[in-house]
Amino acid sequence: MENKKIWLSSPHMGENEFKYVTEAFDLNWISPVGPHLNKFEEKLSEISEGKDVAAVSSGTSAIHLALILLGIKNGDEVLCSSFTFSASVNPIVYQAATPIFLDSELDTWNMSPEFLELAIKDRITRGKKPKAIILVHLYGMPAKMNEILEIANKYDIPIIEDAAEGLGSTYFGKPLGCMSDFGIYSFNGNKIITTSGGGALISSDSEMINKAKFLATQARDDAPHYEHTHIGYNYRLSNVSASIGLGQLEVLQDRVKKRREIFNFYKTQLSEIKEISFPDEIEGFYSNRWLTTILISEDSKITKEELRLFLEKDKIESRPLWKPMHMQPIFKEYPAYGGDNSEYLFKYGLCLPSGSNMSDEDLIRIVNKIKQAFEN
Ligand SMILES: *Cc1c(COP(=O)(O)O)cnc(C)c1O
Repeated sequence: MENKKIWLSSPHMGENEFKYVTEAFDLNWISPVGPHLNKFEEKLSEISEGKDVAAVSSGTSAIHLALILLGIKNGDEVLCSSFTFSASVNPIVYQAATPIFLDSELDTWNMSPEFLELAIKDRITRGKKPKAIILVHLYGMPAKMNEILEIANKYDIPIIEDAAEGLGSTYFGKPLGCMSDFGIYSFNGNKIITTSGGGALISSDSEMINKAKFLATQARDDAPHYEHTHIGYNYRLSNVSASIGLGQLEVLQDRVKKRREIFNFYKTQLSEIKEISFPDEIEGFYSNRWLTTILISEDSKITKEELRLFLEKDKIESRPLWKPMHMQPIFKEYPAYGGDNSEYLFKYGLCLPSGSNMSDEDLIRIVNKIKQAFEN
């Protein structure tokens, strides 16, 4: 029998998503706003320490709005993790500002506090203090918030926490996205929960969140006709998408539990393969293990690319870790600070299938294939 395809991370619906979508249809609250959207924001607020929430069309648009609200404009400099997905950076360029890339540290794989301070000092010496920091919690693993907040406070630079991959993770008990000026989540189809496409901007500044909602709905001033004093965006989440999100929030904790189990399964099952290592949690760090990631040692007989192709032949999807932004053709002219940590991670790292809808058989099949790859 043909083996079925195993995806890296595919959508996993719970029991009530369809019911809420049907409700939205029955009430004809399809779009743009509606009761499910409000409810979705309330529920998201409940798991985000009561912060104010604007549900939007993507994680990318949430980052863009945060930058606009912080007044980032032409010529400003914004510090950003280099080891991330391009969507963390693109909005900086939408604002005609300059991204300044920071390398990772090897324990969390996230922004190094050391390189952060180094970069801030150097940018100030060169004549410009960076206007914001986009800090990414990659693969659901928290960044070192205490250290980073201390530096950001010292230089008075606001932080946007890109927790697109980190919903359900915590840092000393605090949800990711809730420790800075702004936090953003993504509900794209490959994330831990999905609205089929969507995102959220969160903040304790309710005025800012109201302004985000205003900008996200074409910046209509209060008038019977269409009156505009600001440039607007079409960035709001639709009521139908929010209906899916309502169902997904109910199962978020199950999804986190399952993804962590998947991580532990891989780690235990592959422990005999000395060439494979897994990123550990530091004390106080709790990762949702959105994707299980591995590093293949430098002296391994097979490379991460050979392993990827070997799995692909058996219809198992794996993927290299994010290629750092300072190595990307489109971003390589921008300043970058740090060493070669993220380059190293990209060279030796691989993401394994991590979808919470995988069966035990799927997992056993993957683990057996990996073992086989290292036996040959
Ligand atoms: C997915 C992702 C985004 C963007 O979210 P979208 O909803 O796809 O726009 C931003 N940052 C990171 C780290 C992501 O993984």
